Amino acid sequence: MANSYDVVVIGAGPAGYVAAIRCAQLGLSTACVEEWINQMGEPALGGTCLNVGCIPSKTLLESSEHVHRLHDVFPNHGISVKGLKVDIKQMQARKDDIVGQLTGGIAALFKANGVVWVKGRGRLLANKQVEVTDHNGKTDTLQAGDIILATGSRPVELDAARTDGDMIVDSTGGLNFTEVPKRLGIIGAGVIGLELGSVWKRLGSEVVMLEAVDQFLAPVDEQVSKEALRQFKKQGLDIRLGARVTGTSKGGKLVTVNYKDKDGDHAIRVDKLMVCVGRRPCTDNLAALEADLLLDERGFVHVDHQCRTNLPGVYAVGDVVGGPMLAHKGSEEGIMVAEIIAGEHGAMNYDTIPWVIYTNPEIAWVGKTEQALKTEGIDYRVGSFPFAANGRAKAMDGAVGMVKLMADARTDAILGAHIIGPMASELIQELVLAMEFGASSEDLARTIHGHPTLYEAVHEAALAVEGMAIHKINK
Ligand code: FAD
Ligand code: NAD
Repeated sequence: MANSYDVVVIGAGPAGYVAAIRCAQLGLSTACVEEWINQMGEPALGGTCLNVGCIPSKTLLESSEHVHRLHDVFPNHGISVKGLKVDIKQMQARKDDIVGQLTGGIAALFKANGVVWVKGRGRLLANKQVEVTDHNGKTDTLQAGDIILATGSRPVELDAARTDGDMIVDSTGGLNFTEVPKRLGIIGAGVIGLELGSVWKRLGSEVVMLEAVDQFLAPVDEQVSKEALRQFKKQGLDIRLGARVTGTSKGGKLVTVNYKDKDGDHAIRVDKLMVCVGRRPCTDNLAALEADLLLDERGFVHVDHQCRTNLPGVYAVGDVVGGPMLAHKGSEEGIMVAEIIAGEHGAMNYDTIPWVIYTNPEIAWVGKTEQALKTEGIDYRVGSFPFAANGRAKAMDGAVGMVKLMADARTDAILGAHIIGPMASELIQELVLAMEFGASSEDLARTIHGHPTLYEAVHEAALAVEGMAIHKINK
């Protein structure tokens, strides 16, 4: 049968395209159905991550960090630049070019691995069939041996602040401003709000962030989130906690945002308003009723620990199944499922998924927070080390924040690691590896770290678990 494949994947984000490539590598005939149309009106692979997520946001963070360094850091090095100009259109063009290169790269990988890219919207039918509706409305049916659902997520919308693609936008709009908004309002001081808020703040916007809950960055270790809040406020991000948006209105060229906090009702006026209050799974009309796919109460596809849905031979991976909404988590699930389908041993360690927030300072962690260890009644020891005592961090003008490790009081196994500081996104990987290999804090403390490096702060934090840090007064 011409339209029959060993595996049909629906969705080509980092969960789906990685699953498809691994299936093909393992000798399975594979098709991947993807409906994305990019800014140029062309079909594109890569999903949220490559098109409107990880890659464009990190590209703008990098560009805006250069501006910040030129303004605020270089003078300290005795370097000054006169007549500094920032061309937002060029910055955006560079970002779009990088996105184009990477999404094009996935198309090349599909071709090289023999993955068939089916352009259109996929819908799960009964009996392992997938209906595809192409961009002209024509439908076709694919027959699969196994099916992987990887349809990802989209921004949660707020009734009180409906997006209009111009003055009130979601994260995609917030990545595409062609001018620096004079005053930018952000609803939600979570990961996206902080990353994109940092971009536009560094480029000159006044940024006001309205966060509904009282606790800043609730999933983060409390010691780290306190330090982060202090640093972000110092940078001029106006973060208002416990602020519930009650309504918005547009007048002239401004958006008025009404919100309530413990002190009463307030209003702010902004040029642009960005709504980033979380993401929800793309499961609307994903499956025909007769397919009988089980969703949970929040609309995520229900899966077991190996990403099996309630239907034999149908798996789901990535944001659409919930858990951490992270590209690398989805990709690893994709690999696990491909290996299971191919009859191999697919497994994934959910305890060692790293998290990174690409602000300045960066925030990264793996494993348990101190508050979780306390709640779970686990006996632990802590070691921490400040970047203020790290030579490389000082040379880089990054002597802010710390590395904090927690180890089991009995076995010394590393239970959690938390970093706020320069290049935390890279440093965390040593700790992910250590945890994956079941290392103890002593293993890390006995590992030789090059000098002068930021990694020495990780080493010293491991030494500090035993009160043995060299460049810190251990109390
Ligand atoms: P997606 O990437 O959402 O891909 C799903 C794909 O399925 C899409 O291409 C969609 O078009 C397609 N699709 C949906 N329904 C259908 C259908 N019925 N038929 C055919 N195709 C369909 N994560 C990180 O780890 N690091 C970061 O730095 C990071 N930064 C981010 C920044 C922003 C601004 C945003 C919004 C997200 C960021 N994320 C980051 C999160 C990351 O993008 C997601 O976790 C990741 O993309 C999820 O991968 P996925 O494959 O599950 O879903
Ligand atoms: P988030 O969950 O990180 O933050 C949303 C914030 O909005 C929370 O603090 C929440 O309390 C707040 N909020 C919810 N409703 C609100 C309301 N009505 N008014 C005001 N505040 C409200 O979600 P996000 O920032 O939208 O990002 C979505 C997901 O995308 C993240 O959870 C993460 O998984 C992923 N992501 C990851 C990265 C990264 O890995 N660096 C970057 C961006 C996004």
